[in-house]
Amino acid sequence: MNSKRLNDYTYLIDLKPRGFENFSASYVIKGSKVAIIETGSRLTVENLLAGLKEIGIKREEVDYVAVTHIHIDHAGGAGTLLPHLPNAQLLVHKRGASHLINPEKLWVSSLQVLGDIAEMWGKSEPVPEERILIAKEGMVLDLGKDVDLKVFEMPGHASHELAFYEKNSNGVFPGDAAGIYLNKFDMVAINTPPPFHLEMALSSLQRLIQMKPRWLYYSHFGPADDAVGKLKNYAARLKLWGEIILGGMRRGESFDVISERISEKEPIAPDVADYLKNHITLSGGIIIPNVYGFMEYFRRSMA
Ligand SMILES: [Zn+2]
Repeated sequence: MNSKRLNDYTYLIDLKPRGFENFSASYVIKGSKVAIIETGSRLTVENLLAGLKEIGIKREEVDYVAVTHIHIDHAGGAGTLLPHLPNAQLLVHKRGASHLINPEKLWVSSLQVLGDIAEMWGKSEPVPEERILIAKEGMVLDLGKDVDLKVFEMPGHASHELAFYEKNSNGVFPGDAAGIYLNKFDMVAINTPPPFHLEMALSSLQRLIQMKPRWLYYSHFGPADDAVGKLKNYAARLKLWGEIILGGMRRGESFDVISERISEKEPIAPDVADYLKNHITLSGGIIIPNVYGFMEYFRRSMA
């Protein structure tokens, strides 16, 4: 089973990149119309289609495919998926659309930031321009039967990040705006690779907190309650990381020393460390790439 019913109208599909469970999710929301949130990478389009079949949704029934942002683990499968979904429009922020229509530039930057991991996710195929629906703040995707998704802009992790609010369960699909949820440990890992924008990320989190959601439906990975508690905690940690990292940079400390300071503040439990060792994307650690994102942000903002 790749799919799981979360409530009357929401399903989670575990995309299982290379068989790795509990890391990459798509969600299916079904009123009288059907929306999919996140395509996942090109690598896992077949698993997404298999999940749809398992849920009992025909490909032609899908009306919308909404992506929180265009990073290749979230939207990289769009160009490969859409030919299978003849009636679906792809909802994306206007700043992301051109990169889905012509994915070359995104591929080059994915290789720079992710290296081998980008190769694993696979190079995206282009999305035909006429399939794209530009997302706007406050837009509502009415799926019928009193089910809808409301669009919010959530810049920070990416400048074009979106979140989708679902009123009946009082839940939010935050994309990567709220970190990476390691559901096995009920723990949220920081997710701030470059180009990260701290101030924007914090004000986006503030907006999410003000919605007072009960649920977060993480793309990485799965549903989690106590949404407000998790969002507040994530914001507090981002602030703390920011203070430590900026302080270190002002003192002229090296990347290694600054990373060590963060590691001291956020010791990783042995069982978590063990789990991460064999993780599909996090085996390089949950500190180093994110410290790099902060430092790059501070360099940019001080320049
Ligand atoms: Zn991601």
